[in-house]
Amino acid sequence: MNFYLDDPNLGRLLQKYLDPQFFEWAEKECTEFGAMCAEEIDERAAHTDREGRPKLIKYNRYGEDVSKVWVNEGYLKTVEQVYNKGIVGYVHKNIPDLGRRGNYVYAFTQGYLLSQAEPGFYCPVTLTAAAAFLLDHYGSEELKQAYLRQLISTGEVERFEGATFLTERQGGSDVGANETRAVAEGGHYRLYGEKYFASNAGMCGVAMVLARREGVPSGTKGLSLFLVPWEKENGEKNGIYIRRLKDKLGVRAVPSAEVVFDGAKAYLVGDPAKGFYYMMEALNLSRVCNAVASIGIMRRAYREARAYALRRTAFGHRLADYPMVKETLVKMAAKQEVETSAVFRLARLFDRTAFGKADKKEQIMARLLIALLKMETAEQAIHFAHEAIEMHGGNGYIEDFVTPRLLRDAQVLTVWEGTANILGLEVLRLMRKFNAHEMFIKEMKRKTSVLQAGALLSAGIEQLEETCRFVMEAKDEAAQTYHCKRIAKQMVKIFESVVALEDAGTGERQKSVVEAFLQLTWHDPLCIDPEMAFVKNFDEIVLETVLGN
Ligand SMILES: Cc1cc2nc3c(=O)[nH]c(=O)nc-3n(C[C@H](O)[C@H](O)[C@H](O)COP(=O)(O)OP(=O)(O)OC[C@H]3O[C@@H](n4cnc5c(N)ncnc54)[C@H](O)[C@@H]3O)c2cc1C
Repeated sequence: MNFYLDDPNLGRLLQKYLDPQFFEWAEKECTEFGAMCAEEIDERAAHTDREGRPKLIKYNRYGEDVSKVWVNEGYLKTVEQVYNKGIVGYVHKNIPDLGRRGNYVYAFTQGYLLSQAEPGFYCPVTLTAAAAFLLDHYGSEELKQAYLRQLISTGEVERFEGATFLTERQGGSDVGANETRAVAEGGHYRLYGEKYFASNAGMCGVAMVLARREGVPSGTKGLSLFLVPWEKENGEKNGIYIRRLKDKLGVRAVPSAEVVFDGAKAYLVGDPAKGFYYMMEALNLSRVCNAVASIGIMRRAYREARAYALRRTAFGHRLADYPMVKETLVKMAAKQEVETSAVFRLARLFDRTAFGKADKKEQIMARLLIALLKMETAEQAIHFAHEAIEMHGGNGYIEDFVTPRLLRDAQVLTVWEGTANILGLEVLRLMRKFNAHEMFIKEMKRKTSVLQAGALLSAGIEQLEETCRFVMEAKDEAAQTYHCKRIAKQMVKIFESVVALEDAGTGERQKSVVEAFLQLTWHDPLCIDPEMAFVKNFDEIVLETVLGN
């Protein structure tokens, strides 16, 4: 099995977004990594979820609070293998074989492959990536000297994983309600307070933490960003204690904890008035990672559903011979491929923003697409996991198969890094502040005007314009927020359709995928379809890519 070789759409996207030299190298790496994820890492994922979950070792034999987290051997091996492949490091430093820096498109490709085995293994990577992003962009030279090399280690120096701690008991979405205090002491600070959801606690070398200095305003304006080493240099505790590990529905591989700071030594990162802004920048990276994990789950769910439908017989026929089953698989394939293309388009734009190459308009579009695609992909991951279970019948509900874990893992993707409501509010914020809707509509109209079949989207764009007009003219906050998720949904449909249509010219199979996608997106599912559009293209769309099942 190989998650990379089984996914020609991914190879196509890599070739599109990497230059030839980078692509040639990346393809070899991804072939190796795709096999590693599909085999050994996948086995460890099942073990970690069932028998080998992280455990809190709260006290040592003398009764002292050591707040250590135990993880299994396979987990540790996975950490080493994955980071040594440069999943975090090569965004910030040269790839030795190429003599130049990598990018997020490549890092997200690795994340997509890893998530097909276990998003709970990808989660700590995304936290480390966010910590490295913050330190590299906003840390002082002194802080970078002290911690960046470890955060981006590919094995040449001791590795520090990262973490980002925002959420407190009284508020996750409402970060402005944060109460953790930072008390100045010499050239550094001491933190006091609690963080209620702290993933990678006990495993991280450093955490990036939001806290409030004394005498600053309430709300988000008074939050500063701190780098907090998990331990002192001599290995002693740095005043950070784990109260308990969360007993979670899914992503059980990653330890998520309740953490108490009792005088933890902390270093200010950047401008103290901009902590919230910095963290929102990192949150945007985490949201792209979330979308990447979601398309990973969608891919795995589709792969499992397809394999089962081709193997299982009922009433004397393979499941895959029945029209309703064909319909399900074609819909899954088309949606997964187009949504993956959409996420990679965002990944490329994210690269431009992260490396300071994006103009103002691109920066706004990137923020908008991050909100749209984080919301959409997370919901689709749950839907796909459900479809995969359904395809397996009773077996799909049993933990011998990966399907229950896919559903349990997918469910968190709609919650962390911002719920759908919070993302809807982000879309509204962008509309109010930058007229992002006008920018979006103008861009989509420009693109559809030159696309064959672009006229198909006109009615959808008109409806979007009408809803945006209503919202912007609405007098009260309630009417505006009530509609913001509707706007986001319609924008996703339009954006993904444009991405699909732009890709339609890349081959016969691609044309069929696009046709199925448009049917799925715009056709009323309750209307009669005498052509049985989804059945018609089954062989081409679903069977053509069957490898290694
Ligand atoms: C497994 C796991 C790991 C996590 N790891 C971390 C971590 O490492 N670091 C970290 O900082 N956090 C972490 N979190 C926390 C996560 O980011 C928050 O749970 C999430 O942001 C939601 O915040 P909340 O739980 O406080 O929910 P709330 O903010 O209380 O939201 C509850 C509901 O109310 C809705 N809502 C809230 N405000 C509005 C509004 N204005 N309008 C409409 N609806 C609204 C939300 O959409 C949601 O549906 C983790 C969470 C989980 C489950």
